[in-house]
Amino acid sequence: MDDDVERLKARFERELERTADLGPSCKRPSVAGRVSLDCFEVTPVRFYCAPFTGRRAASLIELLVVLFIMAVMMGLLLPALQGARNRADAVVCENNVRQLVMALGRFIDVKRRFPAPEEWTVAVLPYIEQRPLADAIKYNADPGGKYPRPPLLECPMQEDGDSRLASVGYCHYVLVVDRLENGWIERGWEIQDRPLVDDDGEPPWYVGPEIRYSVQAEFFASIEGPHQAGQYMTSSGPRP
Ligand SMILES: [Zn+2]
Repeated sequence: MDDDVERLKARFERELERTADLGPSCKRPSVAGRVSLDCFEVTPVRFYCAPFTGRRAASLIELLVVLFIMAVMMGLLLPALQGARNRADAVVCENNVRQLVMALGRFIDVKRRFPAPEEWTVAVLPYIEQRPLADAIKYNADPGGKYPRPPLLECPMQEDGDSRLASVGYCHYVLVVDRLENGWIERGWEIQDRPLVDDDGEPPWYVGPEIRYSVQAEFFASIEGPHQAGQYMTSSGPRP
């Protein structure tokens, strides 16, 4: 029995000597914790030393590299996504303008007249599948004027500011037309994106906004408004 204890002691001393110069980062188990001399059991002694800590440092660098690569890829990807969203919004806007132009054209064909000033947004309603709304406005169904804005009058590229009537919304498009004293219009007409929105609160959408061609020319000479250049839709396509 004594021989066994001595043998174990010697073995453990050797083990300690073998690992003595593994450096300060080496976690050495205590004698009492690892070896029980009373019951002649030696638990396996494992040392987690330099190679292991070295591997940890490398994995941190790898993580940083991966994060860096991901950041670069996101940096490349996000503008592309933003560009795609812009193009999708521009397509929606162009489609809105096209449908409004067709609807106003049909109104003029059917009624044989041009809509009265500031009435074009209501005049087009029966031709953009909004006849119930047109009837509700015609018969003044809500004296408070709380008629929801038809989706076609909303451009996805414009901020939706306040209209004078809360939660009713204003029209994001404007009719370009020169009206004469006698009620005729001087030349053709056009529908385009809204140039500028009044901060004081816009009239609700059923008051159709209008500008003259001279104002349109001024506007396209010095773009100020919610859209970026080349994203303003007119009846004849994007301007300027
Ligand atoms: Zn638009």
